[in-house]
Amino acid sequence: MKKAISIILAAALCLSIGASVFAESDVEEIDYTTGTPWMDIDLEGNVTADTPTDLKDNYALWANKDRILILEYPEGYMTAGNSSDVNYKADEDLKGLFRGEVPEDHDSRLAYDYFYLLCDWDARDARGVAPLKEMVDAVEGITSLDALTEYFVKTPWEDRLYCLWRETVSSDTENPGSNILSIKNGYSLIKDPAEYREMTDDGEEQIECYKAFFGKMLEKLGYSEEEAKQKFDNCFAWETMLSSVLASAEERSSSEYKFAADTHFTRDELLSAAPNIPILETLEQVDGYPAMDQYLMPEPAAIEKLNELYTEENLPLMRDYLILHGIYQMAEALDWESYALAVDCQEMTSGGYPAELNREDYPASTVYEDIKSSVAWPVSKYYVEKHSNPEDKERISELVDEIVDAYYGIIEDADFISDETRAGAIAKLDNMGKNVLYPDSWEPYSFEDVNFASKEEGGSLWEAYRAIKKHEHEKTVAQAAGPDDRTIWDLLPFVGNCNYMPGSNAIYINAAFAQNPNYRPDMSDEELYAYMGPAIAHEISHAFDAEGAKYDKDGNFINWWTDEDYAAFSEKNEKLAAYFNAMHPWEGQDFNGEAMIGEACADMAALKCMLRIAAGKPDFDYGKFFRAYADRCATKETLDMAMARLEDEHPMMYLRINTNLQQYDEFLDFYGITEGDNMYLAPEDRVAIW
Ligand SMILES: [Zn+2]
Repeated sequence: MKKAISIILAAALCLSIGASVFAESDVEEIDYTTGTPWMDIDLEGNVTADTPTDLKDNYALWANKDRILILEYPEGYMTAGNSSDVNYKADEDLKGLFRGEVPEDHDSRLAYDYFYLLCDWDARDARGVAPLKEMVDAVEGITSLDALTEYFVKTPWEDRLYCLWRETVSSDTENPGSNILSIKNGYSLIKDPAEYREMTDDGEEQIECYKAFFGKMLEKLGYSEEEAKQKFDNCFAWETMLSSVLASAEERSSSEYKFAADTHFTRDELLSAAPNIPILETLEQVDGYPAMDQYLMPEPAAIEKLNELYTEENLPLMRDYLILHGIYQMAEALDWESYALAVDCQEMTSGGYPAELNREDYPASTVYEDIKSSVAWPVSKYYVEKHSNPEDKERISELVDEIVDAYYGIIEDADFISDETRAGAIAKLDNMGKNVLYPDSWEPYSFEDVNFASKEEGGSLWEAYRAIKKHEHEKTVAQAAGPDDRTIWDLLPFVGNCNYMPGSNAIYINAAFAQNPNYRPDMSDEELYAYMGPAIAHEISHAFDAEGAKYDKDGNFINWWTDEDYAAFSEKNEKLAAYFNAMHPWEGQDFNGEAMIGEACADMAALKCMLRIAAGKPDFDYGKFFRAYADRCATKETLDMAMARLEDEHPMMYLRINTNLQQYDEFLDFYGITEGDNMYLAPEDRVAIW
């Protein structure tokens, strides 16, 4: 759940530590106004009323100086400008949903009621860990391997604490249009199996966090310190044995692994790989999955190992594995102490800092992360009803079509690819999913079948939590049995962002992104093409950046390039990386050009798209367009934030103005920028890939 809870918090903590390190070392000696070819004008304090401007020297500064001087950070932000304004508005709009009157629509009402059950800490604390204890006791009562098998094949899905394996549904690459059920081993506490073979310091730290968490939770469940320790050791021993055959995180990131992960097993092959464990009986008799001809086995060795380890001797280990993982999964729905322990454990084991949550602050802050992750689609529907509309959806959809049309032209004109590769690129455009503002139909996301009593009606979070989990499970079962519907949204409309998903070849322009200042219905063409257009075109371009280009029109990890064309493409990417590697936000500070190629390629292609559209518009006001294009990226941020951006794949905001604009004659000619001007880039030095 709360992955995002305190990204901001963690970042703030992380950054403040970074800042104090600076304070002690040589911060005094760094002159942050010394960047090449431009200083970092986004950095607070670098631009003052006295800073001289010259559009041919630094266009971003010339265009945005006045605005930078008056930008103010929204509360809780370390950066000011359009993107933080949009995110701040999205947050405030979301919070406002739960302050108003009770909504009438079923799903909106469900989100609303769940919000108040989450905040009902008196009731949650009164119940404590009792609901979990019942499920833990059922596992403790298993005294033989037969009884364990019976536990899996007889316990109703929602009463089962945890399982030794897990199933997921994904698109079947061998049978386009179909879904397939993947069978994998259960989760391990430490994500990288390599840690179980040779523990690093990072692994040791994670172990300590888990030990602290489980120690306290098991104590709450009535176990002694000694018993708790034994349980942890048992769980860890089980995971260690199993992980001996699992690929490491590094191996999993390789292309060979991705191909090998497509191993299909027939029903008989699955049965003979794991004859001792009741996987299929459980899936079909208890969980409700239909019998299938084929299953996906990303790591067959893991299931074979699971089968080998499924013995009477290992029963105590398996029991404690189920208990610990059940606790870890369900602590979030219990009392305050369990909840806060779980959040801290999640934060710290994923490299963050303790969230140090405060029960009094919960209804004003953390609850929104929980509500977004637990009932994301009911919240989406509620949000869209209040903050978006069909007219905006239609207008932005037209803009998306216009941009895709321009992109066809760009692909046709690309002189470094052969017709064969061109056909692959065009197929990607033809088949691209265009998810604009919110889904066309709410039906696939409906929670109509979920009913629970509200706080006023005497309901409890635990019952509501279980009803939602049941709904999610039934949805997964239906999905496994149904076709692979590529129109189903993977992202959420209330998030103030846009995306391209290479695995499904789809763009997402979320409703919460298409808000003022990014979009207003009364925008001129120049503004629309400067604010909203580049964001849309940027996402489309990701289909053709260094990473996106590895996936085909259906989102499969399949190469559609000729060797020669790919070599030319790679050369262009190297040139793009070198271009950023030669820049410095301030003297002595480098950029990681290699990490920035995807985002920079998308930015440059996006601007090219907009200029192509502009060329077809009579009386297009380029001056107004370029000013608005710069304004969109006007930014003021703290030094901590600037340091964090150095780790980001996106170029800094001032670079997203100057580096993009200097690639194109339309800009250089309009302002009369020529050789010798700092903003000038000779045609042979330009790095836009498309
Ligand atoms: Zn991007």
